[in-house]
Amino acid sequence: MKRRDFIGAIAGATAATALTACGTEEAPTQSAGNEPQKTYDWKMVTTWPKNFPGLGTGANNIAKLITEMSGGRINVKVYGAGELVGAFEVFDAVSSGNAQLGHAGAYYWKGKIPSAAFFSSVPFGLTAQEMNAWLYYGGGLALWEEAYKPFGLIPNPGGNTGTQMGGWFNKEINSLEDLKGLKMRMPGLGGEVLKRAGGIPVTLPGGELFPAMQSGALDATEWVGPYNDLAFGFYKTAKYYYTPGWHEPGTSMECMINEAAFNELPADLQSIVRNAIKVANADMLAEYTARNQQALQTLITEHNVLLRHFPDSVLKELKVISAQVVEEEAKIDALSTKVWASQKAFKEQVMQWTEVSELAYLKARAL
Ligand code: CA
Repeated sequence: MKRRDFIGAIAGATAATALTACGTEEAPTQSAGNEPQKTYDWKMVTTWPKNFPGLGTGANNIAKLITEMSGGRINVKVYGAGELVGAFEVFDAVSSGNAQLGHAGAYYWKGKIPSAAFFSSVPFGLTAQEMNAWLYYGGGLALWEEAYKPFGLIPNPGGNTGTQMGGWFNKEINSLEDLKGLKMRMPGLGGEVLKRAGGIPVTLPGGELFPAMQSGALDATEWVGPYNDLAFGFYKTAKYYYTPGWHEPGTSMECMINEAAFNELPADLQSIVRNAIKVANADMLAEYTARNQQALQTLITEHNVLLRHFPDSVLKELKVISAQVVEEEAKIDALSTKVWASQKAFKEQVMQWTEVSELAYLKARAL
């Protein structure tokens, strides 16, 4: 729908409004009271390199949808990491109102908000489908709102990567011993598990990973999955590519909104912002699902990457450590306790359905 047609449709839908503004692209839109409608110039800061496939383009998608759906009444400009603020300054920039929107991953803010990691991904936790189910229909989003409220932020699920990969290594991982002393980039709760398993977790923004792998500052790294990892060129720095991403089984990205800026918007624009983000949330998962396999083939056939599965024995041990870490992390503050109680109860329930439905089918398809 062209912008002019969309404005016409809005005007028609509200009925009995003055339609004088609908003739040209340039005229300001008119409200029912014949006053020019206010327009809003919003900034979106992100933790991703500008236009980075999947994550950066997912942020761009939200900005484009808000701008298009509002007929230009909200104009969103996207900034990559380091353009307006650094990757890990996104939370503060949106909290302070220097930007109105921020696209990131909640686990980056674990130091400020202990419960934040539970809203992105929990080791051996929910899949992408289950995560969206918990957030939208299991009380997760209401808890996330409670966590961000003191910072003047409204959180939204802002895309999901699906099950991530286990990471890039320069040696095979045959036992937990092989993780000992390993300097590996791994954020959030997964990083705590790695530490407990004897590794040295490092949190670095995506853009710094390739040079850190090249210089040897990192021995290993996880990032996302084949689509993103191919784009960063990790195959040039490590040859073993491990699955599965036990630490990030279905990571939810976030799009946070500055609450004061959101409250200034009329109800229709608030709905547009909320729903544009919701559309983009679903879209990102579809894009990752489509592109990951193509990228994995390229990595294997063109770049001679060796795909490996973590041995079951390693996964079992990591699962035990993960359960301990998550229970301990959940005791850090009252909100973490409440959030984990909600997610754990939801997981125990939804797992049974997943086993009866998706898992049963996936087993059947693999026969
Ligand atoms: Ca990751």
